[in-house]
Amino acid sequence: MINSVLGPISAEKLGKTLVHEHFIVGQPGWQTDETMFPYDRKAALKTNLEVCKAAREVGIETIVDCTPNDYTRDPELYKELAGKSGINIICVTGLFNGTTGATTYWVAKTMFVKDMPKMMAELFVREIDVGIGKTGVKAGAVKVASSETVTPYEESTFKAAVIAQKETGVPIITHTEGPNPGIAQADLFIKEGADKKKVLIGHVSNSTDMDYYKAILDKGFYVGFDRMGMILYTQDEICIKNIAELCKQGYSDKIMLSHDTCNFWCGRSLRDIAPPEIVAMLSNWRIDYVSRTVLPALKEQGVTDKQINTMMVENPRNLFTGK
Ligand SMILES: [Zn+2]
Repeated sequence: MINSVLGPISAEKLGKTLVHEHFIVGQPGWQTDETMFPYDRKAALKTNLEVCKAAREVGIETIVDCTPNDYTRDPELYKELAGKSGINIICVTGLFNGTTGATTYWVAKTMFVKDMPKMMAELFVREIDVGIGKTGVKAGAVKVASSETVTPYEESTFKAAVIAQKETGVPIITHTEGPNPGIAQADLFIKEGADKKKVLIGHVSNSTDMDYYKAILDKGFYVGFDRMGMILYTQDEICIKNIAELCKQGYSDKIMLSHDTCNFWCGRSLRDIAPPEIVAMLSNWRIDYVSRTVLPALKEQGVTDKQINTMMVENPRNLFTGK
């Protein structure tokens, strides 16, 4: 059984799944922007009910919210969203990277604590087995992240993720920064004895290099083209061409598609502060973009309905079951 925010569900219930999205996002320290505090929960609910409705309209049945502990989660909000929308929501436990995630709370402990992975894993395991705080919501996966290289702090979070996976059996989903670190992440997971069939190396689409994707795929990991519509790194047309080519070469059973949408920002939103040319680049960055635009474009490039079902339904299910 898989931990959804409304309780355990069977893998068969997942259906068409987006494996990497965010309902709310608050970078560590956003609370210090005190004119914006606390976050407008009503507005977040309204926005995200619309997000869930748009997802349902294109047949999405499950959304994995990949927001880790240090990026502001709201399990009660996820429960309300799942209950009102009928979408299965799975949330995560985990810690973000050292560059834009690590809080002084954890970093300061590295001065005194010898076994940081063990300490972090205690938190992850508790949130999977017992629940997040007093909400009763159990995390269904672990999220960890690296910078452009895997720093010592991040190495601790990855080791903790593997400990939690060994104890609880949940999948691990990663964030990679820039076009390179997926290979180092994969090698670290192998060294630590992670179950590769339950690891998704995220954001490989930051790179356009087929050899990079294949280096990770050939080690036995899933890869995420999971920033579709967010063209700050790679144009969608290039991702679509590369996904189609990978499908042609027999890798469809290791690819997952998602958007990494950040649907509600705590504090100042990216859309409010970014220059207009950047905001314009995000016009397709929405929850139904893969279904409405990317999948038809993939079909035009020869990707079959069966391969699409593999990427959108079977792979997410197998990520959770380890099949
Ligand atoms: Zn993300």
